[in-house]
Amino acid sequence: MRWILVMALVGNVAYTETVREKQTKMGSPFILTAVHEDEDLAKAAIAAAWQEIDRLEAMISSWRQTSETSAVNRAAGLNPVVVSPETYGLINRALKVSSLSGGAFDITFASAGRFWDFRSGELPDPAAVAKAVEAIDYRNVLLDPDKQTVFLVQPGTRIGFGAIGKGYAANRALRVMVAMGIKSALVNAGGDLVATGVQEDGAPWQISIQHPRERKRLLAQLRITEQAVVTSGDYERFFMVDGKRYSHIIDPRTGYPVEGMQSVTVICPDAELADALATTVFVLGAEKGLELVNRLKSVDAIVVDATGTVTYSLNIHDQIMDGPVSNTQHTTDK
Ligand code: AMP
Ligand code: MG
Repeated sequence: MRWILVMALVGNVAYTETVREKQTKMGSPFILTAVHEDEDLAKAAIAAAWQEIDRLEAMISSWRQTSETSAVNRAAGLNPVVVSPETYGLINRALKVSSLSGGAFDITFASAGRFWDFRSGELPDPAAVAKAVEAIDYRNVLLDPDKQTVFLVQPGTRIGFGAIGKGYAANRALRVMVAMGIKSALVNAGGDLVATGVQEDGAPWQISIQHPRERKRLLAQLRITEQAVVTSGDYERFFMVDGKRYSHIIDPRTGYPVEGMQSVTVICPDAELADALATTVFVLGAEKGLELVNRLKSVDAIVVDATGTVTYSLNIHDQIMDGPVSNTQHTTDK
């Protein structure tokens, strides 16, 4: 009798496994983590998530000639292009962020962005950039909901999903795992994170946000679940010319890299929105960017400007942050 009771108790103990895999996707390191009692299920869910990310990369990559993005770009100034409902939806949402941000976030940045090559480290021809700026305007992207078409009205306009695609992919990868029965998972899409559930030991996921200049220094430690944490920075993709830093986030008004910021971290439940907003706040700058974040529900941000001053959004909750967050301003000791 006693034996039976002991067996029953042991049988009830949920033994969880954590499976973690890393691959390069969308030109960045991705890490997928799934927690489940059944290790095989966790592995299968991660495999399905990789497939989903591959599918999205094929659909939206600007570098692939066969992507829907390339098809739309090739038809700029010529004709509308029928796209999948998924691409249509992504563009539609990107345009909403554009209008919310007054054009700071703009997928047509690519009209000038294509002249910037962050691998070669050579400055583009200023005349080419000046001309390209004329073609940057999210209102040049015409959507027809009945025909499900996208039309870039100006011949020089190009679109690119660099500032929103990884967040979307992170959302989708998480959803695919959850649909397969995974209740706890973390997706790291090249630094764009989204989490559900808890870690193997039952604790919330712990996320460290690195200082943009000092590798060993942490800006914050977050404890999250059902949240996304996305950082836009000037330190991943950039080059230096004559001591000046040129980084990959472009000011749509000038066609040149934004200068006033080092990093922006956005925390909100949706990775796609967090991704788009991190880029938006980076372009808007600390003051205007935080003004926007403080107006939005369930959105928080940590901003580091060009001088190294760290500013937090007003709503940043104590419960997601280790250590005290005293009001708004922290200056880094540089
Ligand atoms: P993120 O790291 O999410 O801030 O995205 C940066 C990437 O978004 C760049 O590498 C470009 O591909 C693209 N991008 C640059 N400037 C903008 C902008 N103003 N609006 C939208 N996308 C942009
Ligand atoms: Mg972004």
